[in-house]
Amino acid sequence: MSNRLFEIGVVAWHFLRARGLRFRSRAALLAWQQKRIDLFLRQRLPQLPFYRAHVGAPLARLPIIDKSIMLANFDLLNNVGISLEEATATALAAEHTRDFRPHIGGVTVGLSSGTQGPRGVFMVARREQLRWAGIMLARVLDGALLRRLLFGRPLKVAFFMRANSNLYGTLASRRIAFRFYDLLGGLDQHLRSLQGQSPDILVAPARILGRIAALALEGKLQLAPRKVIAVAEVLEPDDRLRIEQAFGGPVHQLYQCTEGFLGYTCEHGVLHLNEEFVHIEPEWLDAARTRFVPIVTDFTRSTQHFIRYRLNDSLRVRAEACPCGSAALALDAVEGRCDDILWLPRADDGELAALYPDMIRHAISIATQALPDYRIAQHGDTLHIAVADNASFDGVAQAVRQAAQRQGLITPACHHVPFTDTQEHIKRRRIVCVTKPETVHA
Ligand SMILES: [Zn+2]
Repeated sequence: MSNRLFEIGVVAWHFLRARGLRFRSRAALLAWQQKRIDLFLRQRLPQLPFYRAHVGAPLARLPIIDKSIMLANFDLLNNVGISLEEATATALAAEHTRDFRPHIGGVTVGLSSGTQGPRGVFMVARREQLRWAGIMLARVLDGALLRRLLFGRPLKVAFFMRANSNLYGTLASRRIAFRFYDLLGGLDQHLRSLQGQSPDILVAPARILGRIAALALEGKLQLAPRKVIAVAEVLEPDDRLRIEQAFGGPVHQLYQCTEGFLGYTCEHGVLHLNEEFVHIEPEWLDAARTRFVPIVTDFTRSTQHFIRYRLNDSLRVRAEACPCGSAALALDAVEGRCDDILWLPRADDGELAALYPDMIRHAISIATQALPDYRIAQHGDTLHIAVADNASFDGVAQAVRQAAQRQGLITPACHHVPFTDTQEHIKRRRIVCVTKPETVHA
């Protein structure tokens, strides 16, 4: 059997396994997950120098790590002996040449597209890539797309990203015509080629999808994708609406980052955690347990390890059960980074309390007139607000003040600053806390 045929077999096996994993209850899923984690820790901890003092300990007793700890101990957290310097140099060289096939001895390396702080570095072996491809296809292909993949013309996938990698290239085959559109030079240069490709599946950062949808609504692009998937950015309500109007809903999402494949939308468009393959422990942000920071343990990986890794994201739990019946936790949204949360003094006791970005997004989305693109940056007591259409500044500021009032917070001073759109190859963050206000208690 040829190597290629063997690899397709491996992908198919992981596809079928991921499809076949259904649990009758959440308790059954968690019990199964616990067994996988125990096995994973028994096998992996002795191989990883970082955990030398922790061999035999249960997951809950292992230290919580974050990006800076991971980068500082990079070579102690992988079992192929690759150093951070070596991995970074290889991945950077690939970014410069835009040739995304870097690897060190069969291990693919890549950089995360983060814009703040040190960039994350990831490494995956070929067998992990094949497993990832199988699981990804199991999550993305509905019945109609699967029939098409098996019996119809090759499936055409358009993928807009800031950096490609071997990981995504794994999906390309005779049955999947996978085209990568590099956002480094912006979106416009790709429009003719996108039109010519006429993809069945369109994958892009949420904001890029919003722009493609706007062009389609204006009649400047004729596309009829069967599935539209937002990645890498918060899916804002205005973009979601535009995409649904242009292509029909629901807009799907993949929650995939350097640290793993963490979530996907089911056929109802509801985001579920990928708990059959990743353990996600909530660090609750509020007493009502509606929002949490995920602490990730990827018990499916075998080269680079993320064990109790605290991501800087804020996730919002969905209150109702999802009609699809999946036992995996359902989310309302990936709200963004933890530093997208604004902090304002409470009206009653002056203590700082959170004003979550979704509260602002919601207030702006229900404003009486449709409001344009905006940026909000908190600098202490003042919010710097930039609006794409200057005339709408009052509307945006008013919506933000109302959102603060509804939470019992002192309304912030709103300062009008000039708007500059985020470049297309940079991750858009509409709401950012640069500095928190100082309090007398702090
Ligand atoms: Zn569901």
